[in-house]
Amino acid sequence: MNIALQRVCGGCTACCKTHAVYEIEKPVGKWCPHCEPSRECRIYADRPKGCRGFRCEWLKGFGEEDDRPDKSGLVLDYISFRPLIPRLFQIWESRGGALREAGVKELIDLSLRNCIPVVLFYSSGKREFFSGGMELSKEVEQAMRREKVKIL
Ligand code: SF4
Ligand code: SF4
Repeated sequence: MNIALQRVCGGCTACCKTHAVYEIEKPVGKWCPHCEPSRECRIYADRPKGCRGFRCEWLKGFGEEDDRPDKSGLVLDYISFRPLIPRLFQIWESRGGALREAGVKELIDLSLRNCIPVVLFYSSGKREFFSGGMELSKEVEQAMRREKVKIL
């Protein structure tokens, strides 16, 4: 059977910390007030649309079982800012230090080889953008500066 069909979030609640949920004004990198970490969403049946639609790459079948975000400390996903950046690979740190662990550099290199820039979200709030040589428009550069994203 397709791995993506077998996988469930189970006790993982990592994206309830890493990601922003605009409908409930939940910022990036802070636990959602509705989350019981490592257990569940207390408002699961009524959770916002943004939560309902989110599936990280692990849930879609990427990586091994042990790479589940609560174990690896990393949530992976893609976003599009068409036409400026058609595809952007995002790596979010749910556990401090996970972005410095083995395997992260390979993930970044693989993405850049496929011409997909990468952004790292550290749990400290630091953000780094790897363009992989992609030419950035003034608009994108200004947005990065505004968001205090370091361009590498
Ligand atoms: S990070 Fe992925 S596996 Fe974990 S709760 Fe979110 S969608 Fe599910
Ligand atoms: S509302 Fe529920 S699913 Fe959405 S971030 Fe909060 S705890 Fe997670």
